[in-house]
Amino acid sequence: MDVGERNGTVREIIRVVMIVLVSLLVGSWFDAATLTALVVLLVYIGWGLTQLSRINRWLLSGKDKGPTRSNGAWGVLLDRIHHLRKRSARDQQELQSMIDYLRSSLSSLSDATVMLDQDGNIEWCNRAASVLMGLREPGDNGQHLTNLLRHPDFIRYFESRNYAEPLEMQAPTNASVRLSVNITWFGRGNRLLFARDVTRNYRLEQMRRDFVANASHELRTPLTVISGYLDTFVSQDQLEPKWKRACEQMLQQSKRMQNLVQDLMLLSRLESVPRSAEYELLSLAPLADMIKEEIEAAAVGDRDIRIEIRSDRCLRGDGNELRSAFSNLAVNAARYTKDGDRITLRWFADADHAIFEVEDSGIGIEPQHIPRLTERFYRVDEGRSADTGGTGLGLAIVKHILRRHNAELKIRSTPGQGSTFSCIFPLALTHEPSDNHKQKNVNQKVEKA
Ligand code: ADP
Repeated sequence: MDVGERNGTVREIIRVVMIVLVSLLVGSWFDAATLTALVVLLVYIGWGLTQLSRINRWLLSGKDKGPTRSNGAWGVLLDRIHHLRKRSARDQQELQSMIDYLRSSLSSLSDATVMLDQDGNIEWCNRAASVLMGLREPGDNGQHLTNLLRHPDFIRYFESRNYAEPLEMQAPTNASVRLSVNITWFGRGNRLLFARDVTRNYRLEQMRRDFVANASHELRTPLTVISGYLDTFVSQDQLEPKWKRACEQMLQQSKRMQNLVQDLMLLSRLESVPRSAEYELLSLAPLADMIKEEIEAAAVGDRDIRIEIRSDRCLRGDGNELRSAFSNLAVNAARYTKDGDRITLRWFADADHAIFEVEDSGIGIEPQHIPRLTERFYRVDEGRSADTGGTGLGLAIVKHILRRHNAELKIRSTPGQGSTFSCIFPLALTHEPSDNHKQKNVNQKVEKA
């Protein structure tokens, strides 16, 4: 209670006491002191109720101009209400002008901006959202975003509720425009969507891919001719030893270039050609046997190769791509191990995933290199990798192939003790073996026995 309020209340109490005293005095002249005081008090209460109903009517009307001034406690109350209403109107105005300011700055952004409520319905969008995404403000407000943006990739992304990575997609209003879409959470489950025009970067990236693909393609034929001739020279008996050695080295290097060109072409194909819709069912037991043979061919010396097939589920995917990914890992294991080291090929499943693993007891990798191993041409030890005949693209290829199968590559390693490369597939990409498959596997095992 502030000073004004206290003064008003004290004055009101004094006034009531005075009224009662005066009415008692006047009433006593007429021998009706109590009755007079009662009547006067009733009139006072009636006046108070009238004031109350006037204030109530005024508050309900919402008009700024209040009822005529009153005195005593009612006057203080009216002043206070007036003051509070004025302050709240001022706060509201400030808030509105701040909202208008924010909206106008968001409106002028060249990135599409869409505010969504907890259910994913549009609350507001800016001008760029209508240009880039075809949304209308305020016409589309209240509509669910996925009713208006029907691209399947976008719907999948939006419904995943995991927006750690942006989504790249074609603009719904213009097929030649590429958008990078970012969604962030704010408030109580509201979402804010930003979409940026990344057409220029996309075209540059496409040009880079086309260049690598074309250059590799053009290099392939001359390299085949060169290594063909070198092969012939090397097999000539009458060639002088110094020329023979030179030809052997040239042949070795041209074979390396051929491998590089082949890997570059494969990588550009993986980046640019959409995954084939047709899937193969791969049985892992025969695949592991095949990979074992590849390790034996690639390794210098002997390796203790073990196969552990702990699940009979089949893997559904592009057979050529998956075979190439697994054999890249296996050949790496052969390259980075030495005579007598162990290599284990393992296939197993848990509640959510099916995992193909290549574990070796080779040289291992220092932890700081692990996050960068799948970058193109990244090598832990430039000299040693070149000696092993690698192109530096193997793990980049594996990563791309796995990504096309919604799978991921996990690498664990201890320097000096060995490494484990795990290809983790969603269980949904695997199948219980069909009867045909079961029969085939049994036959294969019987044949081997
Ligand atoms: P590369 O053709 O050079 O082997 P990769 O992309 O296949 O290229 O591998 C990248 C690098 O990762 C290699 O240069 C090597 O240093 C390291 N690496 C890959 N596999 C293994 C492994 N099994 N053990 C140790 N290091 C490995």
